Amino acid sequence: MEQTLILIKPDAIQKKLTGIILSRFEALGLEIAAAKAVRATEDLLRKHYANLQGTDFVDGVIKFMMGDYNGLPDHRIYAFVLRGEKAVSRVRAALGATNPEKAEPWTLRGQFGCIKDGIMQNAVHASGSAEDAEREIALWFRPEEVLP
Ligand code: ADP
Repeated sequence: MEQTLILIKPDAIQKKLTGIILSRFEALGLEIAAAKAVRATEDLLRKHYANLQGTDFVDGVIKFMMGDYNGLPDHRIYAFVLRGEKAVSRVRAALGATNPEKAEPWTLRGQFGCIKDGIMQNAVHASGSAEDAEREIALWFRPEEVLP
């Protein structure tokens, strides 16, 4: 069965969208294989977003993921491993395009995302491929935290 990493980002947590977002994934028939609240370190986020290294927005994205853009009293991210048939592509379809202004209005990012201070605050991360998912799950979870 395929699995994928989901991160509920600080903007969505601040807007109290966690339940709505999870209900969309539940409706896809995916099971939760792991779940936790995380205060992500800069080091973890730099590894997670290694693909953005060299862009002029990577530092802003990392600050945003640590809550800096929202003035949150404490930063947190909710991390999940979701499992099911074609989990990667079906979850990405539910998210919509990276740019919330280009995402279809019925997708999570189209509905709940915005661009603020030049950073796409797009509510949810989901792995882009099965290979990315394995790498990302290993970054965010210890093996014993993921149900077999
Ligand atoms: P995705 O999250 O859809 O897999 P990327 O890995 O390319 O997309 O980018 C990671 C995150 O960085 C995005 O979700 C978004 O929050 C932010 N981001 C990506 N591209 C830009 C950009 N051009 N300007 C500002 N923020 C961006």
